[in-house]
Amino acid sequence: MTQTIAFIGLGNMGLPMAKNLIKAGFKVKGFDLSEDARSAIVDAGGEAFDTILAAVNDVDVVVTMLPSGAIVKTVYEGDGGVFASAKPGVLMIDSSTIDVASARSVAESAKANGFEMIDAPVSGGVGGAAAGTLAFMVGGDVATFERAKPILDPMGAKIVHTGGSGNGQAAKICNNMLLAISMIGTSEAFNLGRALGLDDQVLFDVASNASGQCWSLTSYCPVPGPVPTSPANNDYAPGFAANLMLKDLKLAMEAVESVNANTPLGRVSAEIYSTMDSEGHGGMDFSAVIKKLSGQL
Ligand code: NAD
Repeated sequence: MTQTIAFIGLGNMGLPMAKNLIKAGFKVKGFDLSEDARSAIVDAGGEAFDTILAAVNDVDVVVTMLPSGAIVKTVYEGDGGVFASAKPGVLMIDSSTIDVASARSVAESAKANGFEMIDAPVSGGVGGAAAGTLAFMVGGDVATFERAKPILDPMGAKIVHTGGSGNGQAAKICNNMLLAISMIGTSEAFNLGRALGLDDQVLFDVASNASGQCWSLTSYCPVPGPVPTSPANNDYAPGFAANLMLKDLKLAMEAVESVNANTPLGRVSAEIYSTMDSEGHGGMDFSAVIKKLSGQL
């Protein structure tokens, strides 16, 4: 029998993800505070509802794609929210990027209310959401992960079980903190090389075949030229905007504090992206940090 999915949060990411579920043959019932988002899901072949109750009351699965942990908690735990409105046994998948603590506490309330839930944040951006090629990092027990896989499949190319509840979020912020640090490191190397008279392409050829090799260099090079598809060749249009990187770094720093981890480079990276954002450059690709570091922004 066709499974019915309630999809809550039909924004830049949620709408194309929901469209891929419709294309895969699922019946999708959408809810979003924005009227435009509700009409867009109807245009795509889904249904739209004015309340969470109406969207989730007879579905098999609930997927959420929302801006923050506080909103995710309200949508699931609030009066008239998902837990109060869904029938017993419904599978819940939160794909929003939120703090680890909120992800763990919502998953715990889900269990207490008789539901199975996973956190399944994504990487791959709006392009990956449209193409159905997102990478899902999934936290939750193995049986729930297996149950969720056929729902995630039409939206993703890579679905990885990362451990218990909250570990999807943990994997995402650890990866993105590493990405920020490696992008800043790559940018510093090019800026120093230029100041010493080294050609960008020569440094690229050396480092990409040596121990400095990393994704920020070889797939997303912050200088124009060596990697023609990188945003540096397109005036640093995103890509992955600096303000989204900042969001993930702030979540990483919250997690760092909660477990007293020592991440000096993560902290400095968060400060650099915070300055870039507060100076009005948060909409540029995160690789434009090379310009911030060389004083050109
Ligand atoms: P967005 O702002 O475009 O969409 C969020 C949607 O949620 C909006 O349509 C908004 O109206 C809706 N919403 C807000 N509060 C609501 C509520 N209480 N009930 C119902 N709907 C509500 O954001 P987005 O870019 O789609 O991002 C969604 C999530 O995905 C975020 O957690 C973000 O960090 C994560 N993410 C985004 C990207 C990206 O490239 N945009 C990449 C990876 C992960």
